Amino acid sequence: MAHFLSHLECSKCSRKHDPNEPQTVCVECKGVLLARYDLDKVAKALSKNDLRSRVGSMWRYRELLPIKEEKNIVTLGEGFTPILQLKRLGPKLGFKHLFLKDDGQIPTGSFKARGMSAAISKCKELGIGKVAVPTAGNAGAAMSAYAAQAGIEAHVYMPRETPEVIKLECAVYGAQVTVVDGTIADAGKLVGEGTARKVWFEMSTMKEPYRVEGKKTMGFEIAEQFEWTLPDVILYPTGGGTGIVGMAKAFDELESIGWIKGARPRFVAVQTSGCAPIAKAIQDHKGNCDFWENAKTIAAGLRVPKPYADYLIIKAVNASKGTSMVVSEEELLKSVKLLARTEGNWICPEGGATIASLPHLLEEGVVDRDENVVLYNTGVGILYQETAREP
Ligand SMILES: *Cc1c(COP(=O)(O)O)cnc(C)c1O
Ligand SMILES: [Zn+2]
Repeated sequence: MAHFLSHLECSKCSRKHDPNEPQTVCVECKGVLLARYDLDKVAKALSKNDLRSRVGSMWRYRELLPIKEEKNIVTLGEGFTPILQLKRLGPKLGFKHLFLKDDGQIPTGSFKARGMSAAISKCKELGIGKVAVPTAGNAGAAMSAYAAQAGIEAHVYMPRETPEVIKLECAVYGAQVTVVDGTIADAGKLVGEGTARKVWFEMSTMKEPYRVEGKKTMGFEIAEQFEWTLPDVILYPTGGGTGIVGMAKAFDELESIGWIKGARPRFVAVQTSGCAPIAKAIQDHKGNCDFWENAKTIAAGLRVPKPYADYLIIKAVNASKGTSMVVSEEELLKSVKLLARTEGNWICPEGGATIASLPHLLEEGVVDRDENVVLYNTGVGILYQETAREP
């Protein structure tokens, strides 16, 4: 299998790191490492036509993914999820072209599967035998599933508030589950102690370079599914930010190989009033965020008090001429039901947040009713029974 990964590059100081060794963050400045490919060679080796006969998963873009040998790919068929036009909800909310990219339809129930398929494949390729992750839930479930297929030992640390079914999901896949009193930041400290003692390889968001490579396939898919034009706006429920950073990276790479050109979608980073560090930083014109004290939201994926890659998320949103939006817990829960009742699709609360932001975006005039608007739904609703209960 031809492969094009060239090196890992620090997003702060540009220092190069060897992708043939396990890497975490920059050895010099602790910046996030990003995978770089030989894009000139990719442009020659791959055409849009080649994709037609490819597998209907994120691995259809394997030339732009970091795995060298096919036998190391750990996959459950994740990705190439549908883009659904919201023909009833769109007009109801005043939009002419409203779409839902639906990662509710993905193995393990959330888009975390994309990142973990890429990252666990890389672990397999590098001979890593033991992994650990602090998680709000879904990353743990996805890591557990892919680690099971790869024969890698998995340790998951999650807040007590994580939905019971997600804790069970990890255990079913054979992971060692530790419940933590506190947030994902507290879980992160515990995992970090084991990492320092070299007990395991740590898979924390953005402290491991390949999860974001899996996530970037969301951008490839949106481009391919819109026939290599791009929508005007992408609304994204933002937690650790791998999605926004990944999609921005995807569009950069597609432009470099000559597959897209012109205007990019504006990213709207959607957060909830219980935890909105990125939205606050964007509104205050800051390049980093402050730690969000007492983070609390039913949308567990958005309960990230200070994303490690805050500077990359903010940069990507600003470069896209995008913005941020904060919604309330109540709006979010109502929106989940509204979508379920108009479109027959029960999505996760994080996805609900993007719907809840729509009226505000119209009102503030930052999104136009004629534009092509894509809501990114990151997971399936059925894992979140509490969103269905009447208040
Ligand atoms: C992790 C998660 C998010 C946040 O994703 P990032 O790309 O890290 O910002 C959103 N929704 C769900 C369901 C998640 O599990
Ligand atoms: Zn660096």
